[in-house]
Amino acid sequence: MINIMRLKTFMTTAAALSLSLLAGSVQSLQAVEQTNFVVIFADDLGYGDLGTFGHPTILTPNLDRLADEGQKWTQFYSAANVCTPSRAALMTGRYPIRSGMCSSRRRVLFPDSAGGLPQSEITIARALKSLGYRTAAVGKWHLGHLPQYLPTSHGFDSYFGIPYSNDMDRDGAKSPKGREAFWNPGSEYWNVPLMRNTEVIERPADQTTITKRYTEAAVDFIHENQDQPFFLYLAHNLPHVPLFRSEQFSQRSARGLYGDVIEEIDWSVGQVVQALKDTGNEENTLVVFTSDNGPWLVFDTHGGSAGLLREGKGSCWEGGMREPTIFWMPGTVQPKVVTDLGSTLDLFPTILSMAGAGTPADRIYDGFDLSRTLAGESRSPRLSMIYYWGEEIWAARLGAFKAHFTTKTEYVGQKAVKHDPPLLFNLNEDPSEKYDVAADHPAVLERIAELVKSHEAGVVKAPTQLTALELPTNKPSFLIK
Ligand code: MG
Repeated sequence: MINIMRLKTFMTTAAALSLSLLAGSVQSLQAVEQTNFVVIFADDLGYGDLGTFGHPTILTPNLDRLADEGQKWTQFYSAANVCTPSRAALMTGRYPIRSGMCSSRRRVLFPDSAGGLPQSEITIARALKSLGYRTAAVGKWHLGHLPQYLPTSHGFDSYFGIPYSNDMDRDGAKSPKGREAFWNPGSEYWNVPLMRNTEVIERPADQTTITKRYTEAAVDFIHENQDQPFFLYLAHNLPHVPLFRSEQFSQRSARGLYGDVIEEIDWSVGQVVQALKDTGNEENTLVVFTSDNGPWLVFDTHGGSAGLLREGKGSCWEGGMREPTIFWMPGTVQPKVVTDLGSTLDLFPTILSMAGAGTPADRIYDGFDLSRTLAGESRSPRLSMIYYWGEEIWAARLGAFKAHFTTKTEYVGQKAVKHDPPLLFNLNEDPSEKYDVAADHPAVLERIAELVKSHEAGVVKAPTQLTALELPTNKPSFLIK
């Protein structure tokens, strides 16, 4: 049934579109209820860490149900193997090399960083806001913590969360040295701020209740905006180390603390879905669940598992960038296991398409519209993936084959190794990247070289935002320790 308020908003949307604020081509406009969007983004969750993706002891009944009722994508990629560039890619639909949100020297933003996502970039939130959507960011941002870079400066009506990673702002006076702090973590060891919009409301943030409080904020937002189109970006700080969970989930999982954390995130997914059901938005909301990069393997059992994939976070091996991904929208997303390629780069054009608009025409996008694949009408339009390590291309996939030009095992002090000829793996037959078949497929290597050359020819590299440091005198008072 068409909700009257939504129809009204739709008419406003049509007017906004006719102004062509986004300078994009308007695709099919139909007088139907506008689709809501909920993107749930985990931090450092491994490919093998959900029940539905094969974990033997972590129980994720809510996510498993969404995968059964929706689509489980088994070859879905984040566009980078660490936090900041991965999030920039999701938000903008563009490889971070185009926005300056990557660096080979300083790979993510830190509390002393001066940079962030430039205003010239258009986020999913800003694009949807111009279509009449209400927008909220809840959780980790990591695209700049200074006021001009926060979610509220990038198209979000509201923000509630920790603006960067939960292991930053280490307080040396309160925290044990080295890894000891992570094995038995206390919230007070990391002096991270919790913000509401542009204000710090708690510092250090109590991380034991952070997943619970993010969930409450998400559920409240859905209830408050149930009669108008909305976009909710719910980006959990966990399971990035240090690991925290609320009392309710303590000592629950056979997998230990890490399992407790995932099971609380799974509970959170269940709460969000219940809120959609309670407000009658179950069938007109696309829910997407994925992760920003692979598991942080050097943290032993405090890091996750990439399952059968090789290596993890920081790496261009599959474990660094292939993410457990689920799409759910009863009646629209056709239940299926999808083995075609997809990427977080594709969320921008997919969401805009499902909102009845095209992507802005004034810039290059790296994503594809997956909406017909979600509807079960076609194969995924994505046939390739470029794997960046900072500002450099270290690997590329075309169809089943992936070539590595440079490899490195991350976080163990290893130097990068260049490969000429490149290593070549058939990922359909060998997802664990064990058997180099370069010698058997010179023509495939040539085609992948052409793919990379063509991609590079279309890239105008933006100056990096990740290396500039904030002078202490310029810091907002909340950042001065
Ligand atoms: Mg991460």
